[in-house]
Amino acid sequence: MILRERHLFGPGPSNAYPEATLGLAAPLLGHLDPEFIRVMDETSDMLRTVWGTENKRTLPISATGSAGMEAAFVNTVHEGDVVVVAVNGLFGQRMVDVATRCGADVIAVEHEWGQPVDVQRVIDAHPDPAIIAAVHAETSTGVRSDIEALGAAKGDALLIADCVTSIGGIELKADAWGIDVGYAGTQKCLGVAPGLAPFTINDRAFDRRVDRPRSWYLDLGMLGGYVGEAEGKGQRTYHHTAPVAMVASLHAGLTRILDEGLDAVIARHHDAGRMLQDGLQEMGLELFAAEGWRLPELTTVKVPEGVDSAAVRKDLLNRFDLEIGAGAGEYAASVWRIGLMGHNARPDAAALVLAALKDALGRAR
Ligand code: PLP
Repeated sequence: MILRERHLFGPGPSNAYPEATLGLAAPLLGHLDPEFIRVMDETSDMLRTVWGTENKRTLPISATGSAGMEAAFVNTVHEGDVVVVAVNGLFGQRMVDVATRCGADVIAVEHEWGQPVDVQRVIDAHPDPAIIAAVHAETSTGVRSDIEALGAAKGDALLIADCVTSIGGIELKADAWGIDVGYAGTQKCLGVAPGLAPFTINDRAFDRRVDRPRSWYLDLGMLGGYVGEAEGKGQRTYHHTAPVAMVASLHAGLTRILDEGLDAVIARHHDAGRMLQDGLQEMGLELFAAEGWRLPELTTVKVPEGVDSAAVRKDLLNRFDLEIGAGAGEYAASVWRIGLMGHNARPDAAALVLAALKDALGRAR
């Protein structure tokens, strides 16, 4: 077995809390064992807290965040529905692709990357869409968008929100903000390994769902037995074999977060991000995301003129065992993405990135 400890400050894994990593090593339970069902029920309860929802249909889907996205669209898009998607980065683009494959008549409202979603433009895009969709925290650009304002203006449309990079890191209030369907990932601010998609859907969206969606696995109508909805808590019928180790790990990560206190965890992300962003600017670097909309958990910074982005990242990896992310899409070589999420949302992690980057840049120039 190769075990090499790295400091991973990219946009994805591993931001794992030690408790979540240990959770992976817990003795494996049968997926219909009453003890596992208790773990699953508690996990769903804790997910309701981090989502800010009372939705009974709140569960970790057994697949990555992209499956959460697929589940959201495949269950709600009826053939020919008008779906307005706010696109201000890679994951908005992915929503367009997924919604199109589900048979939607998609209106993509394009934005300049690095800018937040313009709520009025999205609302004005169509008088009566079936669905409005947007990314709360665009991991490709480091930008937050105002989901609350979208929810307030959505009218009769369903609101689908991608909360992969926001959940457990910044304020998120699914019910109060009018999110009808939300999906997330475990590998970002929740500080758990990748592999599950925390998901929530309210009654309004569930009642409008597609009867027999094209996906069998992600058909939410069939998950009742899996989440104990049909029979009440504590009982399950077989739908698929739950990834028991991942659910145990998510349970441990959520317990860790709620023990610390969700508000305290959010404040910790805020403080670490602020320290990093202030420090980068003090080094003379320019941030990419629009001011006022910068995510604390994912900082985007412009690669200085004349500096080879890939060479600096390689140097950081080789000499400091430290990984930062490249930019996304056309910004691959001109932007770095630095994640301080979950366990990494700490001042010592911010200080380490700043010191290492300063050193690497000193060599590169
Ligand atoms: N949406 C956002 C905002 C993301 O950042 C990601 C992954 O980074 C996804 C969706 C897709 O999640 P996954 O890679 O877990 O499938």
